[in-house]
Parts: sequence; structure tokens; C-alpha cells
Amino acid sequence: MNRTNKVLLIYTGGTIGMGHNQRTGALEPLDFSHLVENVPEFKLIPTKVDTYQFDPPIDSSDMSPLRWKQLVKVISDRYNDYDGFVVLHGTDTMSYTASVLSFMFENLTKPIILTGSQLPIGQLRTDGKENLMTSLELASAHHKDGTPMVPEVCIYFSGHLLRGNRSTKQNADEFNAFDSFNYPHLCEAGVNFTFDEHHILKPDFTKPMVPHFELDNNVIIFSLFPGIEEHLIHHMFDAPELRSIVMRSYGSGNAPQQTWLMDILHKVSERDVVVVNISQCISGQVEMNRYDTGYQLKDAGVISGYDSTVEAAVTKLMYLQAQYDDTETIRKYMNQSIAGEITIYS
Ligand code: ASP
Repeated sequence: MNRTNKVLLIYTGGTIGMGHNQRTGALEPLDFSHLVENVPEFKLIPTKVDTYQFDPPIDSSDMSPLRWKQLVKVISDRYNDYDGFVVLHGTDTMSYTASVLSFMFENLTKPIILTGSQLPIGQLRTDGKENLMTSLELASAHHKDGTPMVPEVCIYFSGHLLRGNRSTKQNADEFNAFDSFNYPHLCEAGVNFTFDEHHILKPDFTKPMVPHFELDNNVIIFSLFPGIEEHLIHHMFDAPELRSIVMRSYGSGNAPQQTWLMDILHKVSERDVVVVNISQCISGQVEMNRYDTGYQLKDAGVISGYDSTVEAAVTKLMYLQAQYDDTETIRKYMNQSIAGEITIYS
């Protein structure tokens, strides 16, 4: 595989490049040049780093399908010019972005590493420098034949490299902000890199990467809780634009056995709305055959989300809905791993 010895660093925003607003004291995104100034180590690394900046940089709470499309465009337009891509991103929605990108780049053959930090890079105790420098190294790490070590969308944070569509933000304060509870880490970055090669995706390097730009976000996340009110749910489920629902159920995929809930799920499924069952637990998987309550959901047309994160399920639905009009095809792909996002035991 031809190597370029270049990595593209894309700055979307987030704490890593933020500074204090002089009037309010609150953190806000700064110009990218500020970030590069604070990392003189850039000049020491062997890989050439080019940069691209979102204008204006955003707090990742403002991330949207339109920005995801922009990211796919920036990367796909320059795909052949770089060995890998590092995306600096706020931590708040980083797992959603990592998940959606894993679907939007079909047959990805290069690393796209998302990272950020809990403290701005200009601060003395920042975690941003290590996250950034290690991500750049990981984006250019390769086998002897030139193929990349991690040809997938990942999150690197605080010593761990995670599959992007398996990751979740787990901590708002500590440096160790992310984990992939249902999938092993792809690499531990200690004194040396320890790659878990067995768990890293192996794409077909002879096939071209196919970027997808369209998303259909007519999907909602609906969380169960004891005392859930029927009338409110009716309003939400009756929306004519609704194409799918990520239902956050209890434990291994259970729901209250109230008739109104089963009826409404039945009705919505008959209207060709896809209902995907994802556990509220951060670890473990949905098994709808284990308890009667899960079984009833299956009867009502609800499909299993297996061990998916909410972030992966909701973005996979957005991706599939833009690709396919018919519900059966969407259901079929929700029952398959398309970018390593779920594990299905047969
Ligand atoms: N609010 C920030 C963001 O997600 C937090 C961060 O960067 O960690 O953009």
C-alpha cells in the first residue's frame, strides 16, 4: 500500500482548543492557530501534519447531520492524500460522531481517530497534548506492508484506543472519559503500543472506500421508566414523519407488560416504524427470549439491538433510512453488523 507520510488533522472544536471568554469566563472555541502554538511538539514528529479547521469551530453539543456530512466531504475529498485522519472533537457528542462516521465510510481502509480533551490544551495540566500526539502516531502506525494498524473509525482517549461505534462517554470530570463496555480496547498506549489485532477490523484493501453523504434523522430515543405516561407517548409515536425508535428498555431488554404499551408498539410497527430494543445498562446485551416481558416486545414487532450502544443504534438508523425506503431492508441490516457495531452470537 502506498504511503504518503502525512496525516490530516481536522479541528471541529471542543474543549481541547477552547479558551476563557474574557467577559463571562466561560470556555468557548478559539482559533486553531492558538492550538498549534501551544503544541511545539508538532515540529518534532516525523509525520507531516496538515490541518483543516471548521469555521467557526463548535462546541460538540452543536454537532449535527449537516456537520457530519461536512466531515465526510473533507475526508473523502482528501482520502488519497493522507495515511490517516485525526479529528479533534468535543467529548460530549464524540461517540455519536465516531459511530455515524463508521457507517458513512463504507469499506474504510484508513484510520480516522477522534480525540479531544477534558482540559484546554493551553492549560498546564492538560490531557490534550498526550491525546493529540498519540492520536497522530496511531493514525500513521502501519504494518510492514504499509497497511494501517487500525483501518477504522476510533476514539483515542487517556491511553485507550476504542472502536468508535462501541464507545460511550462515561465521565464528565475524569481524564478517562470514554470506554467501550461491550468490546475490547483496540490498543493500549503505555510506554509501547499494545494492539489487540484480533479485534481490529480487516477491510479489503483492494476495494475502494465509498463515502455516503445522506442521513435521515427521523428517529427518536425513547427511554422507559416506571410511571411512564401513556398520553405523552401517544403524542410522540403519532408523529407522521417518525421512521424509527430506539427504545431504551430495562436489563436484558425488558419492558412493563402494560397492555397500552404493547398496543402502541404493535400499532407503530404496523405503520412501518422500526423499533429497536437497546438496554439502559451500559454493559451487556438485549436477549428478548430470556423473560416473558422481552418476549412480548418481540411479539409487538420490536427488534433486538443486541449489544449496541444507543449512539451506534441511532446513527445506524439515520444512515439506513437515508439508504433504504423499505422497512424490511432496514430491519435486515439492523440485524447485522455493518461496521463492527454489534456482536451477534448464533
Ligand atoms: N462541551 C465540550 C464539547 O463537547 C466538552 C468537551 O470538549 O469535552 O464540545
